[in-house]
Order: sequence, then C-alpha cells, then structure tokens
Amino acid sequence: MPILIVGGGACGAVAALAARDAGLDPLLIERDGHPSGSTGMSQGLFCAAGTRFQQEAGIDDSPDLFFQDIQTKSRGLADPVIGRLIADQSGPVLEWLHQSHGLPWTLDARFRPSYGNSRARIHGWAGHSGADMVQWLHRRLNDVGVDVLLNTRLVDIITDDDGRVVAAAIQGGDGEVLTVGCDALVLACGGFGANRDMTRKYMPETEAFRYNGHEGSEGDAIEIGERLGAAVADMGSYQGYAMLADPAGISVPPNVLIEGGIIVNTSGERFTDESEDIAGMVLPLSEQPDGAGWVIFDKRIYRKCAHIPELQELTRLGAVRDAANIEGLTERTGLPDRALRTTLAKIRLAEKAGEVDQFGRSWGRGEGPSRGYYAVRVTGALYHTQGGLQIDSEARVVRRDGRPFPNLFAGGGSARSVSGPSSWGYLPAMGLTTAVALGYVAGQGAAKYAQKLG
Ligand SMILES: Cc1cc2nc3c(=O)[nH]c(=O)nc-3n(C[C@H](O)[C@H](O)[C@H](O)COP(=O)(O)OP(=O)(O)OC[C@H]3O[C@@H](n4cnc5c(N)ncnc54)[C@H](O)[C@@H]3O)c2cc1C
Repeated sequence: MPILIVGGGACGAVAALAARDAGLDPLLIERDGHPSGSTGMSQGLFCAAGTRFQQEAGIDDSPDLFFQDIQTKSRGLADPVIGRLIADQSGPVLEWLHQSHGLPWTLDARFRPSYGNSRARIHGWAGHSGADMVQWLHRRLNDVGVDVLLNTRLVDIITDDDGRVVAAAIQGGDGEVLTVGCDALVLACGGFGANRDMTRKYMPETEAFRYNGHEGSEGDAIEIGERLGAAVADMGSYQGYAMLADPAGISVPPNVLIEGGIIVNTSGERFTDESEDIAGMVLPLSEQPDGAGWVIFDKRIYRKCAHIPELQELTRLGAVRDAANIEGLTERTGLPDRALRTTLAKIRLAEKAGEVDQFGRSWGRGEGPSRGYYAVRVTGALYHTQGGLQIDSEARVVRRDGRPFPNLFAGGGSARSVSGPSSWGYLPAMGLTTAVALGYVAGQGAAKYAQKLG
C-alpha cells in the first residue's frame, strides 16, 4: 500500500484528499465506527491569512502578519519553522479545499480580530459546525475513491534500520492485529487530552478540569512515535476553555466576550481581563470557588451573536437565563445583588472615564453589559492538547537526534503546535488550522515520497 493515514478527523481527511489529488491511493484508518474526532466536536472555525475572501472584504492580511501574531501570542516560543509552515499554508489549503472539494468556507467577518489575531482571519460557513465539516470531508473521500477503514486502530509502526517506516500494525474491531506494508505513513490521530496519565504528567494543573475533547485523543501517535525515538515538544501546552456551559456541556461562543460580555465568579465578582487570553482564562476560573462562574451579557451582545449555533442551542435548552434588570439577574442566577451591582458599576465607570478597568480591560462606550441581561453558568475544561511530535518544514516527524524519519509524517493534534509551552499561547481557531494546514503538507509529502519509490 502506498500511503497509510491514521485518523479520520480534519487532519487525516485532508491528508488523504491531498494524497489522492496527487494521484495516489491512500488508505485511511479510523479507530471509531463513526468518524468525528475533536474536529466533529468543534465549531468548525479555521484561521487563514491572505485569502480572497479577506481581500473581497477589504481586509489587509498576509502569511507574514499571521506568523507575527503566532510569535507574539506564544511570546516567541513557538517553533518558527512550524509557525511559518502553518502561516504560509493556511490560505492555499483553504482555497484548494474550497475550489477542488467544494468546502463552502468563507470569511466569518463577525468574528472580530481578538485574542491575538490582529486581523479578521477566521473562516467558517453559515450554520457551521465541526460535525458538518467531518461529514463534508468524508463525503469527498468517498467521492474521490479513498478507502476508509473504520473500527481500525494503529497499534504500532515498524521501521527498518535506517528509520524508514516499512509497515504498520493495525487492530480491527475483532481484536485481530494485522501487519500491513506501506511506503509512507501519516499520523493524524489527535492529541492526548483523553489520556489522564499523560495529562497528569505534562499538565498537572488540568487535573481538576473537565475534559471536553474527543475520547479518541489517547496519545497513540505520541506513544508510538516515542517508542521509535521521535522527539516531542511543548507537551505542557493546551487549549483550555473557561466557558463550558454547566450542565449543558456546550461552549458559550467566545464572541460573547469579544462583544463585551464578562465572567463573574459565584460571588458576583470579576477576576480577570476577559478580552486577553481565551484559552488561558481557564486557570483563573479554576481558582474561583467551585471552579465555576457566570458569563453575563446583554441584549445588544446577544443580537450580535445570535447567528452562532452554540448560542442558539444553549437558548433552546434553557441554559441562557434572561432578566430585565439586576434584580432579575440576581433572582435568575442566585448571584449576590450588591456584588453584581458593584461589578457592573465599575465597568460603567471605566467606560465613562475611557480608562482601563482594574484588570486592564479597556471599554468602549456602551460596550459593557447593561439593561436586558443574559447569564449562562460555566465551568472550565480542557479541550485539546497542543504539544506533540516534533516535525520539520515538510511535516516529517523528527527523531531525538534531530534527523527526520524520511516517510513518517504528522499533523493536527498529533504534532507539536504553535502555542508555546503552556496554556497562554493559543490563538483562536489554531486547532483546526494546524490540523488542516499540516494535513495538507503531510498528505502531499507522503505522496511525493511514495511516488519517488515508484
Ligand atoms: C469542543 C471543541 C471545540 C473546538 N472548536 C474549535 C474551533 O472552532 N476551531 C479550531 O481551530 N479548533 C477547535 N477545536 C480544536 C480542534 O477541534 C482540534 O484541534 C482538531 O479537530 C484536531 O484535529 P485532528 O484531525 O488532529 O484530530 P481529531 O479530529 O481528534 O481526529 C483524530 C482521529 O484519530 C482517531 N484515532 C485516534 N487514535 C487512533 C489510532 N491509534 N488509530 C486510528 N485512529 C485513531 C480518533 O478517533 C479521531 O477520530 C475545538 C475542540 C473542541 C474539543
């Protein structure tokens, strides 16, 4: 078999489409009976720089600016080679998936530049969701004749003395392990958020968080890669999220904060600048009583976010509580009236003075929540990990001695991302960006290698 691709999320599906477009017949294996991965749980939003959709909207963006944003957000600690690769490939991969495979991506201009993205560069589609994206990608795999083997898990990789992958051990649903030969292999089987031993080891501060990612992210790529002598990096890096609705288990979209919403603890007090770090905010929330809080916003903000499927779903489930005034808000949430009044009054003072508030957040006139309130109870969660196998500029996995495995590729959650070493370096929508961009590069690289072998 020329190319084996492991994992049926965005990274694996895109790698398979890229290999197929290059004229190869890849086989994709997926451990679940139904492809989803974290991709299927996501909002389906993706960063791309310098696209024609941005140009049409008059947005001046480029791979260079995207790269700069990656470096700034990660405090210069992201691997510049991987950062450059992602920044350069994000636009072309989006255009290719749009033109060649019909993915109806367009710019989500309502997702304003925020949390480190200095330009509007988040793309999605109306009513978007990650589940739609997985379905679309798998329909395309079917259309172009890529074989997908479900209920099949990679359990090992066999290399020769030169570190060249020659075969893979795969286990079917009946438990039988088969060894299949392959010319190149792409590891696209997600991160390790579902592997409690690994998260305890690499990111012990997440021990008390809920896990809200895919159960298949058990770290198989990393464990198998390490057995082969692969290098790993940024293993303490992750995307947490402070706005998992409790108990609904649905993400309150970040746009609610971007448009002026706040988070208070169960004492009605704010504890952070909600506009600063969308992922790292999970840590200050975890230090509050019960690790719980309330997102507070108002009618104006609700209207601006009403198009977002997650907010629609939360509303349908009754998780969004509304109140005409602070008294009502207190009744609907159980938050202390006096503290809530003080919290909101402080924001109005900062607005009037045109000064930053005590947490360093700046407020435009009328931006903070005012009459016609909404509230959602939230808790913090781990969504997906950002560390993984070290890769080079061709998405080839790199050994601990610095040499690449010639025909072993990785992307998405399986590879080192560009969020730096910890919780504070995540740019919104970088998860899918790395999955799609690195999947594209890995699929093309695997195809090139297999073609060379003839
Ligand atoms: C709730 C939520 C919302 C998110 N929203 C966004 C968003 O809007 N934008 C964004 O950019 N990012 C978002 N993310 C992150 C994003 O979803 C992930 O970073 C991205 O989907 C990773 O893609 P992937 O293909 O690498 O992994 P996955 O989509 O997880 O796919 C990996 C697949 O590999 C399979 N697998 C695992 N091990 C094996 C094995 N040994 N053999 C065979 N198959 C295996 C798994 O079952 C899985 O299907 C979100 C994450 C979550 C949890």
